[in-house]
Amino acid sequence: MEQEIRAEKGEEDPYNNALAQLASVAQVIEIEPEYYEMLKTPRREISVYLHMKMTDGSVKSFVGYRIQHNNARGPYKGGLRYHPMVSMSETRALAMLMTWKTALIDVPFGGAKGGITVDPAQLNEDELEELTRKYVDSIYYTIGPEVDVPAPDVGTNPQVMAWIMNEYSKMKGYNVPAVVTGKPVELGGSLGRNEATGRGVVITAREALKAILGKDIKGATFAVQGFGNVGSNTVRFLMEMGAKVVAVSDIGGGRYFADGIQVPFEKLRSDFMASGSIGKLPYGAPITNEELLESDVDVLVPAAMENQITGSNAHRIRARIVVEGANGPTTPFADRVLERNGIAVIPDILVNSGGVLVSYFEWVQNLEREQWSLEEVNSKLEARMIKAFGDVHKLALEKGVSHRLAALALSVDRVVRAMRLAGWH
Ligand code: NAD
Repeated sequence: MEQEIRAEKGEEDPYNNALAQLASVAQVIEIEPEYYEMLKTPRREISVYLHMKMTDGSVKSFVGYRIQHNNARGPYKGGLRYHPMVSMSETRALAMLMTWKTALIDVPFGGAKGGITVDPAQLNEDELEELTRKYVDSIYYTIGPEVDVPAPDVGTNPQVMAWIMNEYSKMKGYNVPAVVTGKPVELGGSLGRNEATGRGVVITAREALKAILGKDIKGATFAVQGFGNVGSNTVRFLMEMGAKVVAVSDIGGGRYFADGIQVPFEKLRSDFMASGSIGKLPYGAPITNEELLESDVDVLVPAAMENQITGSNAHRIRARIVVEGANGPTTPFADRVLERNGIAVIPDILVNSGGVLVSYFEWVQNLEREQWSLEEVNSKLEARMIKAFGDVHKLALEKGVSHRLAALALSVDRVVRAMRLAGWH
């Protein structure tokens, strides 16, 4: 009975879930036990305590992480997250996902992730800068353009990347823009990087609608959870392509628009900035995040946090396709429920890889001291996203497996090949 489905014990542990995903790949490809063993754990885990004198004179300690999972295909690469729920398990899982993501979109990077357990909204600008600089001082010996290149994630932005670049450059004694991506354009950031993840999400959704439902994105209905970097740009490009966005939310609640959003995107964004939350917009009907996830739409885009679709609500999901803008929004248990109910899940490592792809473009531009035009960045992004979706969809059909399993199999295979060729023992 549908109603009897219950969340699986421990199903929300991100690292266990990442391990379960890795184990599932054995259904499609063969991995020698030695490589499987090496891929189960990161190569290096760093945790640091950051002691801060706050502006009110009090002293606080924060914990920060940088976890480097695998660098067989190139320097470690992965975002930096500032959030109260950042933990070792979460950072480990996200580092592993980055290894698969860079391999799937086929850029010469490995996988890493960093984070600080902090609510950035509770810190003022000076404190955030100080915390960021202390973090860099603690890990600088293990990052660098050829070693490990951080980027923005939840709770961080181009300004944080600028502080990282400056602090690292001070240590080196010269300017090192390629140590970090997602920088402001004035400091060597790539045109198109800020909105690249959302752009990639929408390109993938368009391809998935066409391939799976035979439907055009124009007029297709969408619900988008999250209105940060990924969610807001997803909504923007969906509106530009004529999709009907019927529901949007953030941590402060959501809004339902039966006929799609009726105001231009710029107005939506400025009203959101003025009110502080999608849940406080002066138009649209109020809905909760739970209701948004369960809306009757062609495509649901979870673009906020992990563990949003779990054993507790997977049986109530009514979207035809789930396009994972966020990392890890669907637990493996929920994945099985969705698959059984005929709902296609297009996985995070494919959907949100536009961000790391344009980060790669930024890194190349920095190393070559060049700046590409926005048109060049966007056309390269589009071509690579279409190819990646095509490869995954083809393998899924050939093997009769989910898009997640196909995407994982393709990427793990690429990583293992690199390890084998380089002679990792
Ligand atoms: P962000 O901090 O800019 O935005 C996060 C959004 O999620 C905010 O609107 C916030 O209100 C909302 N949110 C947080 N908790 C929520 C909850 N419990 N319920 C509903 N909404 C909630 O972060 P972002 O950069 O947009 O990242 C979102 C997701 O995309 C994360 O999983 C991140 O790892 C992933 N991602 C981001 C990038 C990137 O380039 N920024 C790239 C790849 C993947």
